[in-house]
Amino acid sequence: MLKREKKLEKKIALRRIKILLDKAHEVKFEDYELARRYVELARRIAMKYRLRIPREERLFCKKCLYPYRYDRIRVRVAKSRVIITCLNCGFVRRIPIRPARVIKKPEK
Ligand SMILES: [Zn+2]
Repeated sequence: MLKREKKLEKKIALRRIKILLDKAHEVKFEDYELARRYVELARRIAMKYRLRIPREERLFCKKCLYPYRYDRIRVRVAKSRVIITCLNCGFVRRIPIRPARVIKKPEK
């Protein structure tokens, strides 16, 4: 039986996630539905290979999966956190602001 190369699989999966998310942001103003579909696929790959989507790539709503678009979100800064409200579904995401070197684990 062939041994699965899990490390390689994960590397490829991550690359695919990045491509899909790039695509999503490319088309989000022309076709918002398609952009969401790209995010959905990226998330599905992430789940299958049990990968974490890198924080800098997480520019979409966790709940409705639409990519962030300046006309579809509200951004506020309060109490050392950035508060992003998704205007598609109302989901509120709070991102604490801390010096980069203090952060050990990426936020969930
Ligand atoms: Zn949303």
